[in-house]
Amino acid sequence: MEMMTEALIQIEHLNKKFGDNEVLKDISAEITSGEVVVIIGPSGSGKSTFLRCVNLLEVPTSGSIKFEGTDITNKKNDIFKTREKMGMVFQQFNLFPNMTVLDNITLSPIKVKGLSKKEAEVIAKELLEKVGLSEKADAYPQSLSGGQQQRIAIARALAMKPDVMLFDEPTSALDPEMVGDVLAVMQQLAKEGMTMMIVTHEMGFAKEVGDRVIFMDGGVIVEEGTPEEVFDHTKNARTIDFLSKVL
Ligand code: ADP
Ligand code: MG
Repeated sequence: MEMMTEALIQIEHLNKKFGDNEVLKDISAEITSGEVVVIIGPSGSGKSTFLRCVNLLEVPTSGSIKFEGTDITNKKNDIFKTREKMGMVFQQFNLFPNMTVLDNITLSPIKVKGLSKKEAEVIAKELLEKVGLSEKADAYPQSLSGGQQQRIAIARALAMKPDVMLFDEPTSALDPEMVGDVLAVMQQLAKEGMTMMIVTHEMGFAKEVGDRVIFMDGGVIVEEGTPEEVFDHTKNARTIDFLSKVL
């Protein structure tokens, strides 16, 4: 017997055009609380646009996105309130270069959530420990490696205590030897039950950590399923072609 679980995120008939370029075509998907959904697909297939629509960094042309039951595409709803609950990590880490690591992490909790400096610093230090960078609290971003900066970016997103984490190719800009540390932090988050949507080219990670894999091509979801279904048992010609190039 299957349990009825309400979707944390419900995406229905999402379309996105840039001018005449229809980048997302009738995408529907549900993300359940605690689920790790990995999105794969060729460059230009619309993965980033899809992820950015989920927190309205891109405004959909049509369709609806419900987050915790609230339709965020309805302009009456406060997207800033919703975005506080969605952590996003990009390929480029986007840390504030003129602020220490600790200040990077505490900024939003203080400014947006109204935490005291002390409260925010307690949380920040816990998170620094979690990402293995306790000793870097007073460092400036440019003194850190790419992998360290990305782990700080993850800590910064987590400091807002989000209900979902969105990752857009978080390891693509890193030197190969840095990738493992960042993936390990993400794997730990998955283990702790964090809901995550992850665009990645790390197929080994997708297979190991993903509960579900979505394969996008040409602005549509071509196929979705468990990692085993998509990586080992697909019968879809487009999936087979893509996997043959990346595996
Ligand atoms: P992916 O992340 O899978 O590589 P993207 O979502 O970045 O794909 O891009 C999908 C398509 O949308 C591409 O053709 C890209 O050129 C186009 N696109 C993405 N962002 C914009 C934008 N801000 N303005 C115009 N076109 C865009
Ligand atoms: Mg992209």
